[in-house]
Amino acid sequence: MPSRNHQRPTTRIGYGFDSHEFRPGIALKLGGITLPHDKGLGGHSDGDVLLHAVTDALLGAIAAPDIGALFPPSDPKWKGADSVIFLREALKRVRDAGYAVANVDASLILAAPKIGPHATAIRTRVAELLGIQGDCVGLKAKTPEGLNLENAAIAHVVVLLERKPSRQAKPKRKKR
Ligand SMILES: [Zn+2]
Repeated sequence: MPSRNHQRPTTRIGYGFDSHEFRPGIALKLGGITLPHDKGLGGHSDGDVLLHAVTDALLGAIAAPDIGALFPPSDPKWKGADSVIFLREALKRVRDAGYAVANVDASLILAAPKIGPHATAIRTRVAELLGIQGDCVGLKAKTPEGLNLENAAIAHVVVLLERKPSRQAKPKRKKR
């Protein structure tokens, strides 16, 4: 009889998208770190558009409810909240479903600040939060050419999950 494990796919892909508007007078959080800038991202929680997209990619990969359903922006509890909380919950659900994160690839679209000088710090922090190596987190930053979105930050993220070996999956010894 096939074990339950055999019925689950070996790999699963997830995709997340998010956007937030720049507002003066708040800190800019991106990928779990604070970047020096004269504006931050408003909206849900601390506005960390990258962590929100990573969270939704993780949740999407296991067909779980999305970030807005789990942490409603209308709930004052999440106002200014650290987005790491959302990511940790999504990661817990991924692990509970029997999967581990293989790699993540992200594109950030924003006019400013320049991400290049901070890219390694962001990749390192996202990798640390996901429990994977830094070279398993891809990060590209683009300016919004022709999009007329100078005051927004957008994130697109894909994530690949791998099924964790089940405890029952050890090779069977043949009895003699
Ligand atoms: Zn968001």
